[in-house]
Amino acid sequence: MEQTAERSARSDRCRDGLATAAAAAYRFSRKGSEPMERIHKKSALAETSTLLLAARDVGAELLWGRYERQLPLCAFTSNGLSCRKCFQGPCRINPFGDEPSLGVCGADRDQIAMETLFQATVEGVMESARAVRLLGVAGADEDFPDVSRGLSPETAERLSKAGVLPVKRDDVLGVQNSFFSHKGYLSQTLNDLTRLGLIHYGFLSQAAAALKRAPARPTFYPDGINVLLAGQVPAELIQAIRQEAAQRAGGKRVNLFAQGTHGSPFAMAAADHGSPELALGMNVDALIVAPNASWPGIEALAGKYGVPAILADGRSLCETAAEAIEQAARHARGALHEPSVEKIQPAEAGDASGLPHERELRRALQSGRIAGAVVLFGETNAKQTFFERTLALMDAALAERALVFLGGDLGAQHAALGAEIARRQGAQLTAFAAALAEDGLRPITSFGSAFEFPSVVSLVSALRAGSGSHPTPVVVAFPEFFRASTWASAVSLLSLGFTVQIGTRLPFWGSPWLAGAMKTEWQKITGGTLLADPALPEPRAQAAELAARLKAGTGR
Ligand code: SF4
Repeated sequence: MEQTAERSARSDRCRDGLATAAAAAYRFSRKGSEPMERIHKKSALAETSTLLLAARDVGAELLWGRYERQLPLCAFTSNGLSCRKCFQGPCRINPFGDEPSLGVCGADRDQIAMETLFQATVEGVMESARAVRLLGVAGADEDFPDVSRGLSPETAERLSKAGVLPVKRDDVLGVQNSFFSHKGYLSQTLNDLTRLGLIHYGFLSQAAAALKRAPARPTFYPDGINVLLAGQVPAELIQAIRQEAAQRAGGKRVNLFAQGTHGSPFAMAAADHGSPELALGMNVDALIVAPNASWPGIEALAGKYGVPAILADGRSLCETAAEAIEQAARHARGALHEPSVEKIQPAEAGDASGLPHERELRRALQSGRIAGAVVLFGETNAKQTFFERTLALMDAALAERALVFLGGDLGAQHAALGAEIARRQGAQLTAFAAALAEDGLRPITSFGSAFEFPSVVSLVSALRAGSGSHPTPVVVAFPEFFRASTWASAVSLLSLGFTVQIGTRLPFWGSPWLAGAMKTEWQKITGGTLLADPALPEPRAQAAELAARLKAGTGR
């Protein structure tokens, strides 16, 4: 299939003006198959190398190997030009403007790319909706809290005018990609995308309200038994594990570690170097694989490390919990003589977690000690060197005296990211940190999962609202991610009018027209600015773009 496309490219590349941008996107994806574009460096964090070597020693293959065997990536699907909407398909559109240019039903590249975008957003919203339900909190089936609370008055007014406020849980049944039916429905589809962003924000707000009522975070016991949760297990299972631990762990305490942006508030986020595959090499005693874990290969990998894997399946909660604790305790007894190269640690172990107070931020802003804020959210993606783009953006933000808030799996790694930035910036960061200490602030703080976004939005919105005619520059960047729910968070933030920078190549750019519409037409509705391009810029180029946004916001 790709050979045909390549032959077409050689003979017809200049023929169709419309195809030029798509061809550029295609060439970009083709580069992924060339040796220079393969993943040479797996992580920007030097400490990860010990875990990589340990994995090699036990013959474990990690996600990078599987990624490289996927190459070359299919140009149709990686550009959003394949459609599985109905059973007359799947259909595909030639990236260069050659045939086939229409699906069986007559949909063209713009309509199919829009469908891909719309479906990815719906999937992300549903992922978060399911995660909220798994929290097991009272009120999860009730309607959303008022999402306009915490927004700036201008944003609330603009969204009301667009007819997308108030937003209700049932609105999810009414959204559709009408553009697929007829291009005259473009504004309706963009409105529905905005509505989807707000529905997603509604789910996050619901979780945020519930978490405020949640008990205090669990304590980490350095000599405890370590159980890793892949995916999100029901809150009731966590309670059952705690009860069984009291009886079956031989007097030892149990540390429950969660991986993933939607980790339960009743477990600790693991500082796992960006992947549960790496966490398995860090003295984990048992792995519980939840039904929504995105790691189908993790049980086989656990087998390489000799870590027992338990499914949260149809048995009673007590049976599952008892098995997990018994197997973990047995593993811990055997592992005492063979400690791993690195021990698993909770992300909260440092003192830089938790959002600052608004009054401290305001004081630092008024004194000129800070010039803005950058929110960095996401998780690692095997297509990019882990944390490289995140570090480049952190570096640029801090150089502009912007506070950095790290969330999602990036936040779980804040201690290592902070240490790496300190190595890179040296005295510059020390001076910034010393200045901020006057306000009780730190240059880098972490804020947990996407469920914390409402608190972040409320904090930075208050900051912007109180900064007069020159609103404080705030950029929300998603430098690396793979989850559909993270994309849905980006859509939420755009819908709320933020400047949103995307650092992962999106699978929608087979339509150059769509790339333009996302930046211009959608902005008219949401007021948000999307910083994303068909050909993903290098990390340093995106860091320069971020710095320029911060400078422009401060009038420099
Ligand atoms: S392009 Fe049309 S016919 Fe083909 S799968 Fe999509 S909806 Fe069905």
